[in-house]
Amino acid sequence: MYYDGHVHTPFCPHGSNDTFEMYIEKAISLGIKGITFTEHAPLPKNFTDPAPAKDSAMLYGDLNNYFHKLQEIKKFYRKYIDVRTGLEIDFIEGFEQETEDFLREVGPELEDAILSVHFLNVGETFYCMDYDENVFNDMIRESGALNSVYKNYFTAVKKSIKHSFMSYQPLRIGHITLVNKFQKLFPADFSITEDIHDILKEVSERGMSLDYNGAGAVKPFCGDTYPSAWIVKEAHKRKIPLVYGSDAHSAKGLGQGYEKLEPYAKLTSPLLLD
Ligand SMILES: [Zn+2]
Ligand SMILES: [Zn+2]
Repeated sequence: MYYDGHVHTPFCPHGSNDTFEMYIEKAISLGIKGITFTEHAPLPKNFTDPAPAKDSAMLYGDLNNYFHKLQEIKKFYRKYIDVRTGLEIDFIEGFEQETEDFLREVGPELEDAILSVHFLNVGETFYCMDYDENVFNDMIRESGALNSVYKNYFTAVKKSIKHSFMSYQPLRIGHITLVNKFQKLFPADFSITEDIHDILKEVSERGMSLDYNGAGAVKPFCGDTYPSAWIVKEAHKRKIPLVYGSDAHSAKGLGQGYEKLEPYAKLTSPLLLD
């Protein structure tokens, strides 16, 4: 089942202006059977976007338009492709209650969602971890060591998995090794095995699934999927469902990294998980 469960849209301030129609036409041409649009959900109102360009997420004021447009698109393409309404929700430590309130509000609209960590607190300052290599370098400096950045990230991912949202629980965890995005510039000389095993255990116990994200494979300083092959193997052992995500921010980004996925990876889709 070729399903893409992680796709951005023209509502993303750091993405392209490609229209929904351009994404869908491209998806159909690739033979994709279903797609979830997962725009970066608006950030909590009291959270200041730490990204230098302040362009991490869609605007709160655009939400109704976003949902409305998706309803139209779903109807129009119904015969050709399954289109699902989703969001990529940020898990930000200290802002769980605001995220809960937001989920209560939008939950009824959602057919699928990803829970991701992009923002990490170092000292008293938040950083957008995957913004670019300079921000990542700043984080290493402020944390004291690369190891600390990894620890910080995996701790936040674990918290995101363990956190129960009362009104709507996103069941797919986004790119669990996003911290590898600049690994060719900042290679890890320590093991992450234990953290990964902890993460997989928590995911499995809660019946959650993982975003098997192809974007890292085409990022010049990463060159690997999120997560890596050995983690996919471990996930299989634990029967954790994997859903492919291109994480495309333009129509031409659809399908990216797909050929780099482990050939034995049994991909699933929200269609089958229902
Ligand atoms: Zn993005
Ligand atoms: Zn993401």
